[in-house]
Amino acid sequence: MSADPFKDLVSHCKEYGFIFQSSEIYDGLSGVYDYGSYGIELKNNIKSYWWKAMVQNHENIVGLDSAIMMHPEIWKASGHVDAFNDPLVDSKVSNKRYRADVLIEEALEKIMGKAEKEIEKARKRFGDDFVEEQYRRDNTRVAEYIQKHDEINQRFVDAMSKNDMVGLKAVIEELEIADPVSGSKEWTDVRQFNLMFHTQLGNIAGEEGKLYLRPETAQGIFVNFLNVQKTTRQKLPFGIAQIGKAFRNEIIARQFIFRMREFEQMEMQFFVQPGSEMKWYAYWKEARMNWHKALGTPESKLRFHDHENLAHYANAAVDVQFEFPFGFKELEGIHSRTDFDLKSHQELSGKKLQYFDPETNENYVPYVVETSIGVDRMFLAVLTNAYTEEEVPDAEGKESTRIVLKFPPALAPVKCAILPLLKNNDALTGTAREIFDDLKFNFLCQYDEKDAIGRRYRRQDAIGTPYCVTVDHQTLEDQTVTIRERDSLKQDRIPISKIREVVEAGISFRSLFQ
Ligand code: ATP
Repeated sequence: MSADPFKDLVSHCKEYGFIFQSSEIYDGLSGVYDYGSYGIELKNNIKSYWWKAMVQNHENIVGLDSAIMMHPEIWKASGHVDAFNDPLVDSKVSNKRYRADVLIEEALEKIMGKAEKEIEKARKRFGDDFVEEQYRRDNTRVAEYIQKHDEINQRFVDAMSKNDMVGLKAVIEELEIADPVSGSKEWTDVRQFNLMFHTQLGNIAGEEGKLYLRPETAQGIFVNFLNVQKTTRQKLPFGIAQIGKAFRNEIIARQFIFRMREFEQMEMQFFVQPGSEMKWYAYWKEARMNWHKALGTPESKLRFHDHENLAHYANAAVDVQFEFPFGFKELEGIHSRTDFDLKSHQELSGKKLQYFDPETNENYVPYVVETSIGVDRMFLAVLTNAYTEEEVPDAEGKESTRIVLKFPPALAPVKCAILPLLKNNDALTGTAREIFDDLKFNFLCQYDEKDAIGRRYRRQDAIGTPYCVTVDHQTLEDQTVTIRERDSLKQDRIPISKIREVVEAGISFRSLFQ
């Protein structure tokens, strides 16, 4: 493994056809990526896992596919025109641009990191006698770090909630944040920057024809709330799920597909009776965490992070954070959005967006709990978990390094490779082709006859294929093949007629849900 495992992962994605930089031959378009042949399969499987967990497994969740372009008033009602801003700041020396809130959050994390380091050292020193709470209080250095963190964090949260750009600049100065590129502490003033892309309707000039590319899929759900509720005859509580593209003019797009300008979201809005939202918020927190854990993600790589700085529409919000190669970062958001969106649309459109509750005989605007996850971030999380470099015996029994993507089989792009032992043997290739032609109706297979068998196995390992079936001379005599399992490298001899059953059992989504 090289000194930079993240770099290895990014080059693996390119080399093996998972992800390419958009417009590469024109030197690329920053923050935009294309998914290659294996990437699109993995992405589709991730979406399928989400859709099955949400729509297929819940009688009271239904799907929707709303358009990317919507009436521009929608983004006024939702608050995006006025408030979907990020505070940006430039270094006067390097001219590099940063998100002020991200710089501050990282600096605050560093202070807490120092405290945590001291605590860990003490835990080792005192062993079983260690009482963490007491140590946090009594050790002056640790107490000082925590106090400094809490005080500055409070000022940060206040400034963010009041849109106080001068206050944010003051926090940057107080934390003595330096530009990571130049080391300079000379910053411009902090300014607001709206993240929505816009375009123009062809036949209407000026402001009136201004359209936005949606920065989230959720609003398409809100404005269709009654259409969906009436046509599906759902009763509260019920949810609407949607997967689709979203666009944000991110100030800095970086960390590969973590922060993109064009990306995809999987969002579910769960409509509930006012007053019951905290119960459902807790329910969805747990359900979503379980969805992540069911993929075999180690618990140590997942955690909740409560929002202190609540968005204008929320009365509670939490992130599911995942430990990416560059640290713990938001993977998914779970937000209690109150009745903010439906009410705003009701006011601005003049159309009622109310639910008639047959149990109480009342009309009211439901409250909403939303779960929102980026497909691309999930893709990066799945890849991070899967990417493994390990020493294994090669065909001659000698130790060699292999790169293997240990995807949960249900998510793997190709499910089964069919490999005739020799290329120039019509009987072997013919039988292998017959097997391929039969299995291809059930799952994605790949037929490969080029190169030595060991190299073909390595190629399949590198794209994460869970099963390799080899057709050899014995196959011609007794209609059996060897089937090799990717992670254990175990090879079993099974009848051709059993291959489908074995692979289907291994790749089923059912095992994830159980
Ligand atoms: P961040 O704080 O990282 O900018 P956010 O809080 O603005 O994210 P949300 O508005 O809650 O994100 O969006 C929901 C989900 O959409 C996020 O959890 C993330 O997975 C995904 N997402 C948001 N912005 C991007 C982006 N620029 N690129 C890729 N995925 C994104």
